[in-house]
Amino acid sequence: MLIVKKFGGTSVADKERIERVAGRCIEDYKNGNDVIVVLSAMGKYTDELIGMAKDINDKPPKRELDMLMTIGEQMSVSLMAMAMNKMGVPAVSLNAFQVSMHTTSAYGNARIKRIDTERIRRELDVRKIVIVTGFQGVNKYDDLTTLGRGGSDTTAVALAAAMHADACEIYTDVDGIYTADPRLVPTARKLKEITYDEMLDLATLGAGVLHNRSVELAKKYGVPLVVRSSMNDHEGTIVKEEVAVERMLISGVALDTDAVRIAVIGLRDVPGMAFKLFDILAKKNINVDVILQSIGRGGTKDISFTVNKNDMDEAVSAIEKNKTRLGYEELRKDDSIAKLSIVGAGLVSNPGCAARMFESLYNENVNINMISTSEVRVTVLINEKDGVRAMNAVHDAFNLDD
Ligand code: ASP
Ligand code: MG
Repeated sequence: MLIVKKFGGTSVADKERIERVAGRCIEDYKNGNDVIVVLSAMGKYTDELIGMAKDINDKPPKRELDMLMTIGEQMSVSLMAMAMNKMGVPAVSLNAFQVSMHTTSAYGNARIKRIDTERIRRELDVRKIVIVTGFQGVNKYDDLTTLGRGGSDTTAVALAAAMHADACEIYTDVDGIYTADPRLVPTARKLKEITYDEMLDLATLGAGVLHNRSVELAKKYGVPLVVRSSMNDHEGTIVKEEVAVERMLISGVALDTDAVRIAVIGLRDVPGMAFKLFDILAKKNINVDVILQSIGRGGTKDISFTVNKNDMDEAVSAIEKNKTRLGYEELRKDDSIAKLSIVGAGLVSNPGCAARMFESLYNENVNINMISTSEVRVTVLINEKDGVRAMNAVHDAFNLDD
């Protein structure tokens, strides 16, 4: 079997944990498998690197920030190779350049285009464990890029797809995918299985376990994923196309406190304004979520939407640059909001779900600012300070703990 194993930052945070992970990989290797290991940077090292960058320049050039951030993964893979060699097993670390992990050129948010497999194949053929840097790639200028925060999951899934791996295991610091973040909702329950579609929504809406693009890729190439803990041997959660177990109404509740709301007030009420506004943001690669447009009055209307905190400054300055073209009156931003979502394949056939969610928020006296729905999710915007309380209330209202 060819197994891809990915370990997150917490799993390789110090010497002991690196050794534990090394041991776990060696076990698979000794059982006769080919093993590819993908690693994140140790602990919170990526945050530390960003801190160092901001200390010198609060708006560092994105190219240079990627150059800096990629150090983190290079550090963990080389140390891991050293640990395995010490344990008597041949292992080799490779960075994105050495593999040739081709990405688009969008620094800080690059997408994998193609992976050359020859080098990895050659190393596996001489029975080495191959340890690859997560999160990084190389663009057409031969510059290092990164895939966005949490992007190592995506590296692992892309490698599993390119190498036609038999298994792709994502090791993290929780036991799998839960009905809600167990650190915030004590009654949360671990799921045995979840579909790609539900997982994609949960990941995008702030579940914090898998990088959303890794789920997209897994679905596209049919890579079966297992999410499990690096600290114990508990069975994890399987992410796949169809799940066999009897379905709950919803499979999870997610809270995203990294969302900020931008309101563009007093836009001219003429055709094409939404297009112009969101086209400006799309050109900057900024993802927009919950969108609300007010009813026009006196020839003007308002459009508000949410973006990730990290994109706020860029979004605001891009809109301000186009003030005359858009002809709005005022731009407001609000970072005290949180996005609370329920996700489940059962939502589409159960019209009462949204009402049940709203009722539980009403009972908790939580005010809803904006609502958006799709076939598999309902998202509300609430005050950030109500976030955890609201999340618990909604989770309980759907009896997800039974
Ligand atoms: N080290 C990177 C980050 O902290 C990538 C990852 O952990 O997946 O975002
Ligand atoms: Mg992660």
